[in-house]
Amino acid sequence: MATAAGEARCVKCGKEKSTVRCDGCSQPFCYNHLIEHRQELDKQLDEIEVNRDLFRQTLTDQSAKPENQTLMKQVNQWEQDSIDKIRHTANKARELILKHTTKYLTEIEIKLDTLTKQLRESREENDFIEADLQRWNTQLIEMNNELDKPSNITIQQDLTPLISTIRVNVSGNL
Ligand SMILES: [Zn+2]
Ligand SMILES: [Zn+2]
Repeated sequence: MATAAGEARCVKCGKEKSTVRCDGCSQPFCYNHLIEHRQELDKQLDEIEVNRDLFRQTLTDQSAKPENQTLMKQVNQWEQDSIDKIRHTANKARELILKHTTKYLTEIEIKLDTLTKQLRESREENDFIEADLQRWNTQLIEMNNELDKPSNITIQQDLTPLISTIRVNVSGNL
């Protein structure tokens, strides 16, 4: 079949026909397929418009609720994780103190019983001197101190930081 001048192969159907070159993609189309080609482009434009509408909604939502922003969520997550770590460490420390408190309270209880007996006996017998009074006084003061701050439990601060800090860096003009 002879090919008339100006005829080329349509990229869609591959037939040699009168074609029109699309300005956008520079490809030759027969008339039928040129219409189809334009329809395809229209469809793509439709999709972009749908996505634009979706993005418009996302932007509106985020302007109304900036706390939903991913960066904000990242900060919130860091905050929560840090609090959890601190709370966990504090709970462990309290647990350990409580466990030992029960033990030393029993010990103080026994010491106080002994002192009470001594005081009672000394009064009944009316047998005590200044040195006894001094000793009992010291014992009471010691028990008082021990009750407030048991000598075998101390709290030591570790220099290793429990949490890492965060910083927001903003570059450019804002
Ligand atoms: Zn064609
Ligand atoms: Zn085209």
